[in-house]
Amino acid sequence: VQTPPGTLRIDAHVHLVGTGSHGSGCWYPRQGRYRWMVPLLAWSFGMRRRRPLRGDFDARYVHRLLRYVRESSFDAVVLLAMDAPRDERGALLHDADSFYVPNATVLDLAQEHRELLSGVSIHPARPEAEEELARALDRGAALLKLIPSCQNIDLSLPRYRPFWERCAAAGLPLLIHTGREPALQELRPDWGHPSILRGPLDCGATVIAAHCGGIYQREFLELLREYPRLFGDTAAFNVPFGTKSFSSLLEPEIVGRLIHGSDLPAPVAAWGHVWQRRMSVRTGWKLGRIANPLERDWQLKRALGFPEALRTRAGALLRLQPPSREKTMCTLNAGVHAPASRSR
Ligand SMILES: [Zn+2]
Repeated sequence: VQTPPGTLRIDAHVHLVGTGSHGSGCWYPRQGRYRWMVPLLAWSFGMRRRRPLRGDFDARYVHRLLRYVRESSFDAVVLLAMDAPRDERGALLHDADSFYVPNATVLDLAQEHRELLSGVSIHPARPEAEEELARALDRGAALLKLIPSCQNIDLSLPRYRPFWERCAAAGLPLLIHTGREPALQELRPDWGHPSILRGPLDCGATVIAAHCGGIYQREFLELLREYPRLFGDTAAFNVPFGTKSFSSLLEPEIVGRLIHGSDLPAPVAAWGHVWQRRMSVRTGWKLGRIANPLERDWQLKRALGFPEALRTRAGALLRLQPPSREKTMCTLNAGVHAPASRSR
């Protein structure tokens, strides 16, 4: 029996990080001040062997993520690709500290595993951005993820308008980072302000402001009143040093516009909430000990007062293919001439 999309329990914000082992094409900063980031994230994701990045890290990461989903109360997670920082002409900015996850990697994984949906990432200035978008749509992309402050994307540029219009026409929502970003180098910290979302919103695109504006929560809430196609996600709400005002996000007219996202492998801890007296020591202790970070993140949000509907709402926003049919077709193709039939 197929689950209707509106009842799928989805975490719409999970990152893939990789070292490029086994030809995945992923890379991460190996030098400079962000070189500790991926090892730290791996540790927080539960990969705690002595040299976590050695060997087949990328395969182990996916394997662990799949186990977390299967052992949780979720049906699926959106796995995010990550385009590289680029200049206005689309050339790679080699000096920026970033990590990179190719779209093909998340599209392949989503094709193989029904627990995974694909969140692609396309800098609109990159060469053949339109073709990459067409390919992603063809292969069932569920959303498009961007971090303008780190990827160096000026969302207000008029020449990007056709790109946003294309996303809007295809029903592909944009998950766009708002607030500060501590895990990567911010080339334009000011582009974490929610006002940048006006560009794609004015083109009719559905936009999900990741982190509900972060430090700019008030500005996010103002924009929410102005644009009915704007939503927010709850990514990284359980990081240890969060100072969010949850009470305003829990107001009925606001919480109805939010979807659930964990931001894994970002750390998921209870003690920040206990410290800020949002939950009792007893509750924090109990929930903080849940081993599975996907489930721990969700249970903490439930304890903060977020409703069950938070994680089924994504089903109505994301571009979801009829899951079983799509994947059955892929399986059938796989036996005959899979690569040729799936790529253009
Ligand atoms: Zn994120």
